[in-house]
Order: sequence, then C-alpha cells, then structure tokens
Amino acid sequence: MAIYNPKSLKAEEFINDEEILATLEYAEQNKNNVELIDSILNKARPVKNGNETRCAGLTHREASVLLACNIPEKVEEMYKLAEEIKLAFYGNRIVMFAPLYLSNYCVNGCVYCPYHAKNKNICRKKLTQEEIAKEVIALQDMGHKRLAIEAGEDPVNNPIEYILDSIKTIYSVKHKNGSIRRVNVNIAATTVENYRKLKEAGIGTYILFQETYHKKSYEELHPTGPKHNYDYHTEAMDRAMQGGIDDVGLGVLFGLEMYKYEFAGLLMHAEHLEAVHGVGPHTISVPRIKHADDIDPDVFDNSISDDIFEKIIACIRIAVPYTGMIISTREGQSVRERALNIGISQISGASRTSVGGYTEEERPHDTEQFDVSDQRTLDEVVDWMMKLGFIPSFCTACYREGRTGDRFMSLCKSGQILNCCHPNALMTLAEYLSDYASEETKKTGFSLIEKELAKIPNEKVRKIATENIEAIKNSNKRDFRF
Ligand code: SAM
Repeated sequence: MAIYNPKSLKAEEFINDEEILATLEYAEQNKNNVELIDSILNKARPVKNGNETRCAGLTHREASVLLACNIPEKVEEMYKLAEEIKLAFYGNRIVMFAPLYLSNYCVNGCVYCPYHAKNKNICRKKLTQEEIAKEVIALQDMGHKRLAIEAGEDPVNNPIEYILDSIKTIYSVKHKNGSIRRVNVNIAATTVENYRKLKEAGIGTYILFQETYHKKSYEELHPTGPKHNYDYHTEAMDRAMQGGIDDVGLGVLFGLEMYKYEFAGLLMHAEHLEAVHGVGPHTISVPRIKHADDIDPDVFDNSISDDIFEKIIACIRIAVPYTGMIISTREGQSVRERALNIGISQISGASRTSVGGYTEEERPHDTEQFDVSDQRTLDEVVDWMMKLGFIPSFCTACYREGRTGDRFMSLCKSGQILNCCHPNALMTLAEYLSDYASEETKKTGFSLIEKELAKIPNEKVRKIATENIEAIKNSNKRDFRF
C-alpha cells in the first residue's frame, strides 16, 4: 500500500487515498471543536511586519476542518478572513482573461465532456492559423490582453507543433492598439520535452485540471484514451516544472466526486509542489460541471450548492493565500460577485467556448464545450466590476519581467504590490478604457483610476503612473509597466 509522502514524485504517494480519508475523518471529528477552529483561524490570519505582510497558510488537515465546520459564526469568520487575505495580497484588482478554443478533436472518453471521442453529434473543428489570427483580432477588439488556449487531446489533429504554431500566431497579431501579451495553456498532460517547448514558446501559466483526485472515480470517468492514466495525469505538473514552467494552475471539476475529498486532494497537490519544487501553484481554478451537448450534469450526483461552492472558495483562499484563484463564465453574475469578494483574483469575460466562436455574430453552440452562464460583453463585465469597487486589470507585467514562480510569490509577500501591481492594473485599465470601452464605462473607469492613483504609496511611482495614464489617454503610446 502506498504511504503518504508529499515529497514523492509518485501520484499515489503525494495524493494519498489513506491520508485523504484520515483527513476527512479528522475533520468530521473536529468540526465542532471551537478551540481548534479558533486556533486554525488564528494561524491563518495575516501578520504585518513593517511593510511586509505574511500569511502562514494552512495544511490540508487544518483547512479540511474549516470546510467541515458548519457553526454559523465560525463560517462567517472564515468569510471575513478570506476577504482580509484577499485584500492583503490582491487588493481590489481582478485580472481579466478569455479562453480561446483551438480544436475540439479529442481521442479521450471523458464522460462529462462533450468533446469525448464517441460523441458523434458535435461538429469537429480545428482552427487554421488564419482563423486563429481572426479570432485573436476579435478578442483584441474587445480589449483582451491575456488568453487561455484550450484544445482536446489528439496527437494527430492537435500535435504539440500545432499548439506551438498557434501560440506564435497569437503573439504575432497586432491589430490597432491591441496585442495578446500572455498566453496561458490548457492542454492535456504531456512530456517534459513538450513542456520545455511550451516554455520556450513563451507561455504564461500551464493549466491542467485534475478533474478528480479520487483514483477509482477518475478511471471510471476517463474510461478510454491517454487521459485514462491517473498517474500520468496527476504527475503532469512535476513534468511541467521539470520542463522549466514554474507557473502552473491546478483545479478540479466540482460535481464529479465528493467535494471534501477533492478539496483535501487539491491542497495536498499544492503542498506537494511546494515541497518538491519550492513553489506552490500559481493559480487554482474552481470549475463546476455544466450542461453541454450530450452531457446532463444531473447524471453526476456530487453537485454542490452555491453555498458550499462559496465556502470552498473561501477555504482555499485561507489555506493558500498567495495562490491566484480563477472563476470562469461557467458561473453566473451573482455567484461571481460573491466569489470576487471572498478570494477570486482572475475572472474571464465575454467567453465563447466554441471553436471559432469569437468571429461569429451570434454565440454558436455547435462546437461548444459547455453552456456559458455569464453571457455579458466584456464592457458590461468591466463596468459591473468597477461599480462594485474592483479594478479590472489587463496586466501581464510579472511574467514579462521574469517575475514567475517564487519571484512572483516574493513580490506578493514583500508589500511592494501597491507600488507595482496597483499602477500596472491602473495603466492597463486606462488602455482598455481609451481603446475599447463604451462612454459610460469610460466615465466610471477614469474616475475610479483617479481615486486609485492616490493609493500608490511611493511618490515617484505615483507620478510616473499618472504621466503614463495621461499619455495613454492622449496618444497611442501603450504597454507601460513596472
Ligand atoms: N483536453 C485538455 C485536458 O484534458 O485537460 C484540456 C481541457 S478542456 C478544453 C478544459 C476543461 O473543461 C477540462 O479540464 C474540464 O475540467 C472542463 N470541462 C469539460 N467538460 C465540462 C463540462 N461539461 N462542464 C464544465 N466544465 C467542463
């Protein structure tokens, strides 16, 4: 039997079933242990030391106790703490992105995904490089600067060379004042050599959802194709890091398995990356299963309510304070609004989950991966966020300045975020407002920028940011960054 060892490179040792089951039992036994819960909450609180703010984070066992606890006052404290941690490290900035579906050809049999090989209903489509350029122009014309590319797994139709060519095309398109400055990649688990090629192509984060950490369920949910191999999939992030990618994004597809099991697995995965590579995940995504062609989400009996979903987000925020958290348009406006307050730091806007969807006038459904709940335009999402007091940020500076992996984490901890991320967010928002926003959004945005500039502590940085924003308003000068 496999023995739990976070430093092991073997999936069954760092995501250890026995350890997860023991964690769930410990959490169940202690869910009303107020003394323990208080000590866990106290451990997780931000501590200020001069300019630096630190958070200790929590182990998967500690965080699982919080997730199991249903005492209303304690749950309320968790939400408050999650909000406090979010503000300490991410402020009111929310990074914006959009997915770009390249190809829905897929050889796998994932039973929850309409791209599964046996689905004969769905139209199969793979974008040519010319079509990708057109999609990118459409995305740039909305105002996007950061994409996550998505593709099914198919070594013949979507080999790594196709993905690499696509990345090159995306970075090469410069339409009007637009450019895509960061391409994140969500493709199937692959080899160290291929991860190295992705790194050389200049990708931002490599994202791969585990779907479920429960091995037996995983094998049933992925009955055929290369994705059936649980160990190969679970060990992918180690290969990505060996290939030089130090920003990796984790996630599970909530609804497939019991959420408490997934939550413990997710945190164990984060602990493993920290233990082996010295840096935890750059992001954690929280997708929930959605209706899609050939897919009825009600078939999966582990679906979670909005309340539990929010609690999961808050508990992740508390447990891994420096990790970015992503919510997609799978969720509707009200859930996204709550999630922004309690932990989310990145949000997609105006997403189309179909192959070639951005160049179509009407939202196409024939190649779609799942139904999109939040169907607002990017302008509507940006305006909504600003009216809620958030700064939509189109910043991509960190990775372009080499601040990835532990260097990003150091920035996060150092207290320099207000002198670096904050002005970058404001300058990229000014670009968005000048080039793409409606009159109303522009008005809301520039008055927000004025207020937010005053919060930059360093006088010199504040002066430069103010001058750059004036230059953005009055000329075609773009891409300023700290
Ligand atoms: N083929 C790659 C892989 O296997 O990892 C790329 C992933 S796919 C384009 C992106 C993600 O969408 C999947 O990892 C899965 O979690 C999610 N997904 C699949 N079907 C879904 C559904 N019906 N509802 C919500 N999300 C879904």
